[in-house]
Amino acid sequence: MINLKDALLDRFLRYVKIDTQSDPESHSSPSTEKQKNLGKLLVEELISLGINNAEIDGFGVVYATLDTNSKKVDIPKIMFCSHMDTSPDCSGENVIPIIHENYQGQDLVLPDDNSQIIRMSEHPDLKHQLGNDIITASGTTLLGADNKAGLGAIMTALEYLKKNPTIKHGDIKILFTPDEEVGRGTENVDLKRLDADFGYTVDGETLGSIENETFSADGVEIKIHGVSTHPGFAKGKMQNALKIGAEIIAKLPKEILSPETTENKEGFIHPTDIQGNVEFCKLSFIIRDFDESGLLEKENLLKEIVEGVLKEHNNSSFEFIVKEQYRNMKVVLGDHPQVTENAIEAIKRAGIEPKLQSIRGGTDGSRLSFMGLPCPNIFAGEHAFHSKLEWVSVQDMLKAAEVIVNLAIIYEERA
Ligand SMILES: [Zn+2]
Repeated sequence: MINLKDALLDRFLRYVKIDTQSDPESHSSPSTEKQKNLGKLLVEELISLGINNAEIDGFGVVYATLDTNSKKVDIPKIMFCSHMDTSPDCSGENVIPIIHENYQGQDLVLPDDNSQIIRMSEHPDLKHQLGNDIITASGTTLLGADNKAGLGAIMTALEYLKKNPTIKHGDIKILFTPDEEVGRGTENVDLKRLDADFGYTVDGETLGSIENETFSADGVEIKIHGVSTHPGFAKGKMQNALKIGAEIIAKLPKEILSPETTENKEGFIHPTDIQGNVEFCKLSFIIRDFDESGLLEKENLLKEIVEGVLKEHNNSSFEFIVKEQYRNMKVVLGDHPQVTENAIEAIKRAGIEPKLQSIRGGTDGSRLSFMGLPCPNIFAGEHAFHSKLEWVSVQDMLKAAEVIVNLAIIYEERA
């Protein structure tokens, strides 16, 4: 793989210079037309690699297949997916990437804004980057390694497989999506057209990491119907829905079960919105846990709190509405253990210690998994994403490319 380091670097620098910021306010698909500029470039590059079926559709989704070169007929078709957009949280316009060659642990001061400094003390993963070439932005924009590091790794893996036809592999499916950062990455993905059996998003952080678990997520809406009267004549009659809503929030556990007091595998009950008046009040919550039973426990606890408060206001009533949002992809991946096992083996063969992790959130992969395409997330080396301090090393991206090649080999071997 080492001989493709320069090609990978060139590619990455080309991709980050194209502004692909998505827009949460937009209702069009893609949310910003400019994302297609990168999509079209990727299609051209895929075609110049000899992958002639590469196409971008009207929604800005890029599809391609590197056809099998193996005589085996039962090789699972595996997909690699990265997203093309960058976060709305930080500008992605006129990104000036800077290469800090042979990093020696020093502070990385970004030249266009000297107050933007990447320090090892605040970015402990930099301890593992000594001697590597770190790429950052110049201080006024994000870099866009999330997820252009993944695009660079996938494209480099494809180039490597094309240049080394003695390496046998099955059909390799490529999916590049717009609008992941605004939660709409899988909205227009046509799984029939993609025609893959298993997939991997290449959008993770630390070298060697593989994420096969996400939160399970529900939304809860509580509607309080109070009793409204003229405030001058309200004694003994009025039951103020707004005050009832505030009492419910005040009774939530504080030291536990909150986003601000939990980490790792702990779930939480999190109020996100309250709206109302004397007569009616609506509370919105998100509930998170890694297990569905944990989700149910938290919802029951919330309901008990609501019932307790409403007992004191017996002419008022409430509705408690639970809406499923997404589920832990482990539920799907558990039925296909080889998908995670093969990734662990691919990472080991690249000479890296695999780190199995869970995500306190959802991914496009969790949605794809429940749409029928089991899809954990593997590292691309991106760090401090959605910020001006974003960084990635060329060496980590190259390792991600190697893991992708290894996965292609492993699926062929094991078929
Ligand atoms: Zn991402």
